[in-house]
Amino acid sequence: MRQTQGSLVCPQCGKLVGINEPTCPFCGAWRPGLYGWAPVLQRLVGNHLDLISLIVATCVTLYVIALLLQPEAITQPRGMLSFLSPGTRALYQLGMTGGIAWQLGWWWTLLTAIYLHGSVLHILFNVMWIRNLGPAVSEMFGPGRAFVIFNVAGAFGFLVSNMMSNAPTIGASGSIFGLLAALIVYGRRRGSSMMSQQMWQYAIVLFIFGFLMPGINNRAHGGGFVGGWVAAYLMGFVDEQRESSWMLLLALGFIAITLVGIGLSFTKVTGILLAG
Ligand SMILES: [Zn+2]
Repeated sequence: MRQTQGSLVCPQCGKLVGINEPTCPFCGAWRPGLYGWAPVLQRLVGNHLDLISLIVATCVTLYVIALLLQPEAITQPRGMLSFLSPGTRALYQLGMTGGIAWQLGWWWTLLTAIYLHGSVLHILFNVMWIRNLGPAVSEMFGPGRAFVIFNVAGAFGFLVSNMMSNAPTIGASGSIFGLLAALIVYGRRRGSSMMSQQMWQYAIVLFIFGFLMPGINNRAHGGGFVGGWVAAYLMGFVDEQRESSWMLLLALGFIAITLVGIGLSFTKVTGILLAG
């Protein structure tokens, strides 16, 4: 797995450098070989793992698991907007944030809740937007950075809403606002006013839409937009500077926290239920 000698293509500038080089002599990238782990990381995340598809697959899988975990919730008669809604217990078990999760200090739910959805309509709507915006953000910023923007935006959105409200909350819409903000940042810096204007329009229409629909977390939308903007602003574009292995490592870190977080929520909620 770990490469200890020889060389690799510097992830940032594309020139051949020694695997143990402390900095790339051509572009100055810090530890381009990531202590020997860069090649395996590149193969794994850079070439094979489509991070946008991974996000969509995770949302769909967790939605199905949430329904199966508490099947009695499915048959409860509710309106069109909450058709096929997972039960509250199942959602807490899979990492819903806000409410008791936030009171108990379960910080990882800031990430896990991004991947949970409350109805067929909710998940269809969000997956459609991720599919529409995700590939563009990946292409302009790089897949690792796009994934990091998505997660930072969603987590920041929930942080803002948890600070201001006690309501339990889920969904990728804060992250979607972050993707919109990232595309605006790109459009502004590249002088593409058409793209910025288009994305501003989407963001404003979606934001207003949130106030017209019941049960929408508008604070998470606003927070996601700000979080996505700041994250995107701090990152470079892929045609200026390619992603370092560190960015891919950060993306993997978010994946790991999300997976471990779901396990933690599941164990803790199930423990509370058994004790009660
Ligand atoms: Zn380099």
